[in-house]
Amino acid sequence: MVNEAAAWGALAEVLDPEVPVLSVVDLGIVRSVAVDADDRVAVTLTPTYSGCPATEVIEQAVVDALRQAGAREVAVQHRLDPPWTTDWISPAAAEKLRAYGIAPPHLQAADAQPLRFHPRSIACPRCAGTNTQQLSAFGATACKALYRCLDCLEPFELFKPI
Ligand SMILES: [Zn+2]
Repeated sequence: MVNEAAAWGALAEVLDPEVPVLSVVDLGIVRSVAVDADDRVAVTLTPTYSGCPATEVIEQAVVDALRQAGAREVAVQHRLDPPWTTDWISPAAAEKLRAYGIAPPHLQAADAQPLRFHPRSIACPRCAGTNTQQLSAFGATACKALYRCLDCLEPFELFKPI
């Protein structure tokens, strides 16, 4: 037996392989969950960055988690419109990112244009200083950029806002 609350609970345990402090629910990837009387679960996912190699891994993890939660069948649908945006990352999840040492996209100036932000507007997740410098447009994964804080000298990653 599985219900929607249990399904959401199971999904909240599915961590993004590229950002292992955030679940697929934290990221806002899970758009809807429906459970029918026969314990069949239909889940709608909106992938993050298109072409992100983690997408298939995440989908399999979602299926596995729902089956463990009691789903008899799991149907995964993709919804690409509206496209995923870092705005769907919850404020609580942004704080988890910051505590992990990744600058969350939410720290951008509110008026910054997606992907056209001024590098100086990125706040260091450790000391909150904004005297930061972009070292590379790509960090360990394409979803992140590599920065260095000129105040505390710590390198850190930015979860790129889109
Ligand atoms: Zn710093």
